[in-house]
Amino acid sequence: MSTSLDRMADFDLSPEQRLVRQTVREFAEREILPHVEQYEREERYPLDLIQKLVPLGLMGPMIPEEYGGSFTDVLTYGIICEELARIDWVVASVVSVSNSLCAGSIVRFGSDAQKERWLPGIAKGEVICSACLTEPGGGTDLANMQTTATVVDGGYRISGSKVFISHAAYAGLFFVVASVDRAKKHKGVTAFLVDPRATEGITIADFPLRTLKRDNLAEVHFQDAFVPDDAILGEPGKGFPILGSALDTGRFSVACRQVGQAQRTIDLALPYAIDRRAFDRPIGEFQLIQQKITDMITRCQQARLVVYQLGRMKDAGVERCSMESSMAKLLASKAAVQNALDGMQIFGGYSVTAEYEIGRLLMEAKAMEFGEGTTELHTKIIAEIALGIRKG
Ligand SMILES: Cc1cc2nc3c(=O)[nH]c(=O)nc-3n(C[C@H](O)[C@H](O)[C@H](O)COP(=O)(O)OP(=O)(O)OC[C@H]3O[C@@H](n4cnc5c(N)ncnc54)[C@H](O)[C@@H]3O)c2cc1C
Repeated sequence: MSTSLDRMADFDLSPEQRLVRQTVREFAEREILPHVEQYEREERYPLDLIQKLVPLGLMGPMIPEEYGGSFTDVLTYGIICEELARIDWVVASVVSVSNSLCAGSIVRFGSDAQKERWLPGIAKGEVICSACLTEPGGGTDLANMQTTATVVDGGYRISGSKVFISHAAYAGLFFVVASVDRAKKHKGVTAFLVDPRATEGITIADFPLRTLKRDNLAEVHFQDAFVPDDAILGEPGKGFPILGSALDTGRFSVACRQVGQAQRTIDLALPYAIDRRAFDRPIGEFQLIQQKITDMITRCQQARLVVYQLGRMKDAGVERCSMESSMAKLLASKAAVQNALDGMQIFGGYSVTAEYEIGRLLMEAKAMEFGEGTTELHTKIIAEIALGIRKG
């Protein structure tokens, strides 16, 4: 990154936040980047890289110190996600799913016993988390979930299937949503903390993707899987607000990751535009290339400002900021996807060769556009809140 780009990204951060960015960036470039392309070829899940995050406190940035985490503020957490995703979307996903959706929900809604049971293991990198939300019938209309939790003696039996579940085969904790009464729609939704290794009736199956195989997405089937009463996070039928709060923070961290992805395309395109020559001059001297570079930088910074403001709102104690979360996710999705496209254009035909990283980034950026709410969903949420059709 050049000095002006650094200044823009860091302008109103505290000295501690700048130091975190610098430390995570240097760590990711040194410890993660050299392995990414090889792991991509081998379709290998980065378990060993995840362990390297632990000594720096990067597995628990949303977990309070008393539970072994390194929480300082939400914006710092976002900067960590941004910098990790700038180098590797999978490692960033492990941190973000474990902290936003799972640990964050336990911190906000868990009992003392649940906090003691789960948070230290997550912070130590011993417990990787998965969020089991999306179902084969659709991920956008979550209130219409088919997975049920039936009351039995001492607990519940969960039945149903979830798809697209990141990290499931490696997870030691599932954050699961199921309905205790489907007729009540969102008022039946209940959140559970499930230990997949100690629960009978859970099957984790491969969910084959055309590309993006390193993320190890899975189908998770629950067949009358018994979970005790104390696996409930919050109360029966009160899971929808917990899910909403989890997704609010989840969308923040995903948007931070997308800003990191957008930044990476700039960092790759600038030296290429200086080095690559056509018509006896660097392609960066052509106005059509300059237009793309300007658009890439402006888009990324626009998204970053909205995303950071969301982090600051959360640090100021605003519990739900659905409109701002949707705006952040929407702008950051557009920045990451369009920057990847513009970046590829700057690399020309070489963008699709194995020699360069830029072509890989497009599919990764597009996948992130779907995770934690599609562009259409966020467009709908913003308008509905503005129109008063939905609570913000
Ligand atoms: C790489 C990756 C990782 C993921 N990881 C996880 C995970 O760990 N856990 C998990 O639970 N899920 C995960 N997901 C699933 C993701 O959250 C869903 O793909 C997403 O919520 C969309 O659901 P769907 O794919 O079923 O699309 P659908 O809900 O079937 O939607 C299909 C299309 O219709 C549009 N649409 C739907 N409703 C409307 C509407 N009202 N108005 C306008 N358009 C609409 C959508 O925007 C989309 O374009 C992951 C997905 C990907 C790609």
